[in-house]
Amino acid sequence: AHLDRMAEVEPKVKAFLHVDRETTIEQAQAVDTRLRAGEKLGPLAGVPIAHKDIFTTRDMPTTAASKILEGWRPPYDATVTKRLREAGLVILGKTNLDEFAMGSSTENSAFHPTRNPWDLTKVPGGSSGGSSAAVAAYEAPLSTGTDTGGSIRQPASVTGIVGMKPTYGGSSRYGLIAFASSLDTPGPFARNVLDAALLQEAFSGHDPMDSTSIDAPVPSVVEAARNADVAGMRIGVLKEFGGEGFQPGVLARYNETVQLLESLGAKVVEVSCPSFTVALYAYYLVAPSECSSNLARFDAMRYGLRAGDDGTRSAEEVMALTRAAGFGPEVKRRIMLGTYALSSGYYDAYYGQAQKVRTVISREFEAAYQQVDVLVSPTTPTTAFAIGERVDDPMAMYLADLCTIPSNLAGNAAISVPCGLAEEDGLPVGLQIMAPVLADDRCYRVGAAVE
Ligand code: GLN
Repeated sequence: AHLDRMAEVEPKVKAFLHVDRETTIEQAQAVDTRLRAGEKLGPLAGVPIAHKDIFTTRDMPTTAASKILEGWRPPYDATVTKRLREAGLVILGKTNLDEFAMGSSTENSAFHPTRNPWDLTKVPGGSSGGSSAAVAAYEAPLSTGTDTGGSIRQPASVTGIVGMKPTYGGSSRYGLIAFASSLDTPGPFARNVLDAALLQEAFSGHDPMDSTSIDAPVPSVVEAARNADVAGMRIGVLKEFGGEGFQPGVLARYNETVQLLESLGAKVVEVSCPSFTVALYAYYLVAPSECSSNLARFDAMRYGLRAGDDGTRSAEEVMALTRAAGFGPEVKRRIMLGTYALSSGYYDAYYGQAQKVRTVISREFEAAYQQVDVLVSPTTPTTAFAIGERVDDPMAMYLADLCTIPSNLAGNAAISVPCGLAEEDGLPVGLQIMAPVLADDRCYRVGAAVE
C-alpha cells in the first residue's frame, strides 16, 4: 500500500532519493518468513520505514545528498538501520536531505528539493525534509532523521508530524555520516507520539560501536507515551522565545497549548534562560568547526567521486578538483567558516568562545530544571516558508533553528508535536517540549497529553 501511495504522490513531493520496489518486497517477504517460523520480533515487525539517506544501508546507496558520495554503496549498516532490520521493519527507501544535513529546508540537496505535502510551494523543513515529507504525505508511516541543530524537530513542526531528538548518546551514531559529531543525534519521525516512542525504543540503547553512546538504564518512552498524564507536572515557559520575529499564528497556537496543559493539571511557570538568545551564534561556530574536520575524509581516494584523475595530476590536485566539484555551496561555506574558526590565532576568539557559551547554556538548562520538569517553546518561529524564499539569505535560513539549537548544545532531549494550524496560512505549528539528559520520557508524556 505504501509503495502504491509513493507511486501516486512521489512525483509531486519528491521525498526520496532512492526507492527499490523489489528489495522492499523481498525484505517484507523475509520478515513474513521469520514470523511464520515463530521468531519473536518487536511490536513494529513488518512496518515499513524510510531512512534519511545519511544512515548507511548495505543494500542501498547512501549519498548524504552530496555529489561527492554519488554511487557509493556502503559495505555495512548503521546501528540504527541494523537494529530496525533485526526488529523486522521493512525499508521503503532513502529520503532526501540538505547535503550532509546542513540546512533547514532540504533545498541544499545536490539532487532536488523536496516539497511540503501541505502546500507544494513550501519547504518541508530540513535537513531531514525528505523524512518529514514522506511521513506527512502518507508515503511511509515512520521514518528516521538526524538532529544536529533542529533537523528533526523543525521539519516535523512544519509538516504537522511528531519528531524527536533523543538525549545525545541515547541513540547510536555508528554508520551515521558525520556532520558535527558532538551534536549529531539520530531520532524518529511518526504521525503520533506513541509511534515515535515505539520507533525510538526499537533503535536506542547502548552501542559499543559509538564511544559517546550512553550505557545507562533509561525510563521507557513507550510507557510515557501511553501515560499522557501531566497533572502536577511543572512546565516552564521560556521567556526568551516568543517575542519579536515570531509569526502571530504560531504564537496563538502555542499560547493555547500552554493553557491546555494548565487545564490538564500542569503548573505553568515562566522561566528565563538569557543565553539561549546567543545559542545560534555559538552553534554556527561549533557545527562548522566540527564539519570542517569531519569532511576532510572526502579526499577523492576513499569514496565516491574522483575528478580530474587523468594521470597528469598530483593527489593534491585531484583532491582539490574533487572537493570543488563534489561539495555544494553551503557545505563549502561551512568548511571555510570552520577552518577559519579553528585556525591558530583565532581559535580562542571563535571556537574557544563558542565552547564557553555552550557551557553557559548547559548551566542555564540545569538551573531551569531545578524549577521545572520540562521547558516548552514554539518549535520554530514561523510555519513552512516558500521554496526559494531564503536560499540567498543564510541568516534568515539559520533563524529557523533559533529555538531548537539550545537542546543540541546541551545534549538534552526535545520533541516537536503538532499543536494546530496557523490562522494566517493554514499551515501546521509545532510545540517543542525539552527535558533534561536521559529524561526523554518526559517529552513523550507531555507530548501525548498535547496530542
Ligand atoms: N539547520 C541547521 C544547520 O543547517 C541544523 C541542521 C541539522 O540539525 N542537521 O546546521
